[in-house]
Amino acid sequence: MKIKHLFFDLDHTLWDFNKNALETLSELYLELNLEDCFPSFSEFYNTYIKVNEHLWDLYRNKKITKDSLRTVRFVNTFQFFDVQNNDLAVRLGNEYVRRGPYKSNLFDSCHEVLTDLKSRYQLHIITNGFEEVQSIKMESSNLNQYFDQIITSEKAGVTKPHSQIFEYALSVSGAKASESIMIGDNFEVDCLGAEKLGIKAVHFNPDKIVQHKKVCYEIAHLKELLRLF
Ligand SMILES: [Mg+2]
Repeated sequence: MKIKHLFFDLDHTLWDFNKNALETLSELYLELNLEDCFPSFSEFYNTYIKVNEHLWDLYRNKKITKDSLRTVRFVNTFQFFDVQNNDLAVRLGNEYVRRGPYKSNLFDSCHEVLTDLKSRYQLHIITNGFEEVQSIKMESSNLNQYFDQIITSEKAGVTKPHSQIFEYALSVSGAKASESIMIGDNFEVDCLGAEKLGIKAVHFNPDKIVQHKKVCYEIAHLKELLRLF
C-alpha cells in the first residue's frame, strides 16, 4: 500500500521541548530570584524534568488533572529541596505555562524536512499536549503551514497511546492505517500505540536510547525521514 499520510508527534519530535523549557525556566529562575532557594539552576532544572515526566505519566493514565499537573510539578520540585513557598511555586507554574509555548526552538532541519515531505504527503499532528498551548507553539515556531489536521488529546477526548486517538486521527484526516505512518519520540506512547492499530511507526530517538522491542523504523535525525519516505 502506498503511503499517503504522515502523522507527527509535536513535543520532543519537532518542537524541541527540553531546549525551550530550559530557556524559559532559566529566564524565570533569574526573574523570580530562585537562586535564593535552590543550590543551582542545573539541580533545580534536572529535578523538575524528572518530577514533570513522572506527573505526565500520571496525567496520561488519568490519575491527575491538567490543572493539578501544571502546579504540582513545581510544588513537588520545591518540596524536593525543602523550599516552603507554595505561592512562588504556583506563580512559577503559571508563568511557565504562559511563556513557554512562545519559544520556537525546533529540532535540526525541521523546516527543511517538512517542506520536502509536504510536497509528497499529507502531514498531520497528533499531540498529547493541551489545545491552547499546542496552538501557540505551532504558531510561534511557524509550523501550521505544513499540517492539514492538528489532533490534540483534548480534542480527541483521550491521550496517546490509547487506540481511540489514533482512530480519531485517521477518521478526521480521511486516512487508512495501512497508508499512514506515525513519527514520534515516545516509544510506548507514539510508536506502540500506533502499531497496535496497524499504523507503521518511526521512532525518533536522537539520544539513541536502547529499546528492547522494535518498531518498523528508527531515526536519530529528522533528515533521515527523507531517505525513508
Ligand atoms: Mg513527544
